[in-house]
Amino acid sequence: RPVVGILTFQGAVQEHIAPLAQVGAEYRLVRLPEELEGLDALIIPGGESTVIHRFLHRYGMIAPMRAFAQKGHRIWGICAGAIVLATNVDGEAGKGASLLEIQVRRNDYGRQLASGANLVFSPEFLPTEGAMMPFIRAPRFAASQSREAKAIATRENGEPVGFIGGSQENILATAFHPELTDVRSFHAWVAGATLSRDIKATRRQARQGDF
Ligand code: GLN
Repeated sequence: RPVVGILTFQGAVQEHIAPLAQVGAEYRLVRLPEELEGLDALIIPGGESTVIHRFLHRYGMIAPMRAFAQKGHRIWGICAGAIVLATNVDGEAGKGASLLEIQVRRNDYGRQLASGANLVFSPEFLPTEGAMMPFIRAPRFAASQSREAKAIATRENGEPVGFIGGSQENILATAFHPELTDVRSFHAWVAGATLSRDIKATRRQARQGDF
């Protein structure tokens, strides 16, 4: 079974545990560089990016995370996690891992309470259970981005809210929070699962309300 780390400094960590189990992955809570050892992939959860950045530097995690990505492991950042991955934040060089060539503006979508928006997804991430996704004081992505990053989700007005990129298409950033919904295609992606029978079965269960 794939093993997915969840960066555990601060933020919506617990929320990813059940979704990872639902796509057949194990999880590990990760804080230290040596805890990346043996992981297949990493989730950087939503939270407060300034706090997460401070811990990343204090624990010496920036270079190990970059090395982890260079080996082709998948990394998915949600909201604050997307900010950690971005090369450009509020017009300045990102203070985090800088692994995805995107420009973001912090705190540009929504209030502190989740506000939903209907999204359009690329086929790879197409959720069968509906497309409403929560935004919680989320970063806004600049409309035109480098060709290194490809939009995989947009709002109905065409604004991109999710990007994939990196040298091996192994870095994913979403402004929205699939872990707070029944949609599991993003967890399936980070676990390295293609849309296999397992995932389809998981989706069927989800539709039937088994979890
Ligand atoms: N406002 C947060 C930040 O800028 C992100 C919010 C979130 O992760 N839900 O870091």
